[in-house]
Amino acid sequence: MSENRVVEGRMVTARKLAEIVEGDSVMEVDSIEEADQECPACGGSVLTVTYMPSVTELVTGRKCQDCDWSETDRN
Ligand SMILES: [Zn+2]
Repeated sequence: MSENRVVEGRMVTARKLAEIVEGDSVMEVDSIEEADQECPACGGSVLTVTYMPSVTELVTGRKCQDCDWSETDRN
């Protein structure tokens, strides 16, 4: 997957975005898309990224494109 997005002023790959959300390296990125929500911290645009941190886990994460807010569906 080679879809690049601007996050916090930097161009990042889908994998890099997943790694920012995870705070660690990830095994595979499944999809990246614009989320149908605004950032609760700054009102900015939010991206949804679905990724596999390991073979047995599929995580959906959300990351603001404008500030450092992020969350995962683990919470
Ligand atoms: Zn934000």
